[in-house]
Amino acid sequence: MELPFSESYRIKMVEAIHKSTREERERWIKEAKYNLFNLKSDHVFIDLLTDSGTGAMSDRQWSRLMLGDESYAGARSYYAMKEAIREILGFEYFLPTHQGRAAENVLYSTFVREGDVLPGNSHFDTTKGHIEFRKAIALDCTIDEAADTQLEIPFKGNIDPAKLEAALRQYPAEKIPMVVLTVTNNTAGGQPVSMENIRRVSALCRQYGVLLQLDSARFAENAYFIKVREKGYEHKTIKEIVKEMFSYVDIMTMSAKKDAIVNMGGFVAFKSEELWKKCQMFCIMNEGFITYGGMSGRDMNALAEGLDEGTEWDYLESRVRQVAYLGAKLDEYGIPYQRPAGGHAIFVDATRVLTRVPKEEFIAQTLGIELYLEAGIRGVEIGAMLADRDPVTRENRYPKLELLRLAIPRRTYTNNHIDVVAAALKNVYDRRERITRGYVITKEFPIMRHFTVELQPAK
Ligand SMILES: *Cc1c(COP(=O)(O)O)cnc(C)c1O
Repeated sequence: MELPFSESYRIKMVEAIHKSTREERERWIKEAKYNLFNLKSDHVFIDLLTDSGTGAMSDRQWSRLMLGDESYAGARSYYAMKEAIREILGFEYFLPTHQGRAAENVLYSTFVREGDVLPGNSHFDTTKGHIEFRKAIALDCTIDEAADTQLEIPFKGNIDPAKLEAALRQYPAEKIPMVVLTVTNNTAGGQPVSMENIRRVSALCRQYGVLLQLDSARFAENAYFIKVREKGYEHKTIKEIVKEMFSYVDIMTMSAKKDAIVNMGGFVAFKSEELWKKCQMFCIMNEGFITYGGMSGRDMNALAEGLDEGTEWDYLESRVRQVAYLGAKLDEYGIPYQRPAGGHAIFVDATRVLTRVPKEEFIAQTLGIELYLEAGIRGVEIGAMLADRDPVTRENRYPKLELLRLAIPRRTYTNNHIDVVAAALKNVYDRRERITRGYVITKEFPIMRHFTVELQPAK
């Protein structure tokens, strides 16, 4: 008999989580103004809000915390991080930051000006926020196929080279501080970008004299998909693939809370010493001195270890297969999601589930609230709420997709938890015809409103 697949780790420490009643959840979500970000985590049973900083560190990472060097300048931990970034990612220069958006802040404060254009593949929300806050344009050049959730193609996160080239032709190089390639493409459903696409984008950037930035939060999951889906890479190790991916780019920004499996941390790295030096001032001003930036020594140590573990096949296989397991369960129940299953999350196609809720009443948000009410499971809306208003017209933007993202924290939940998630979603799916109204906004910020928005049921 063939042995079933199982995780490549065992559990050494546990954390209690609690179930609640539907009556309690109705009260809590109302108190939270129907914003899932406003819930206390104690009021959540299975938390799939994000895979960011929510993973379980390994025994090795915890042991490295004890060895952290907290020197203000030139700490051993800084050099450990530097060594890992050079060895595993191939970058000579970097600045530690407290998380990914801080890396964006340092980079874009230095290079992005009003009226600039940064083409990319579905910029991440904080990336888009940092660009638009500076009155620059985040131009989405993702392939059109990404908007069809039922289409199964291996690299649905790719940039469309024709769209990119049109942008590179349209705007002069000095208006394009960089092209932002995000791996994996979170907003399009955790979908990977192929090596061929990275190579192509890199060649176009060189041809037009523009820098290429890899927004790298899930670079290791992207490498996993290249290994299992792209011809010519099946016999390469994850670390070899990662090295090649980064060989084509000039700059990387990293939210280490994702594929470096730490609870907090990030960095921006450069091939060029000159670019690194240009960014130092904003790092010192906004984060901290260049050898710690926004991080403590112990966290830099854990990050260095996490980069190594996070690029090991056994870990990645356990990781991505758990996401696929949830996808397979939803297949069994006929619940539509962005296909194929992504690297860190399942993105339920809310428009195909709640067909009767108007888009003005936030379809994916409504589905997220229903799932919470059903079983205390917290996902997150990737739809019109997240899309914000148009910076110029201030009209609501309605993206092509209304998705409920169920992000799976790394090494945290078992497949029993995943079974509960799938069953709860099926219960919501079974009563979908009775859900006809959504929510309206009562309070919002002008940018990145989804974090703090307040809502009430539509009447
Ligand atoms: C999480 C993330 C960021 C921002 O990082 P934070 O650590 O949350 O500040 C940027 N880009 C991508 C692709 C991300 O997933």
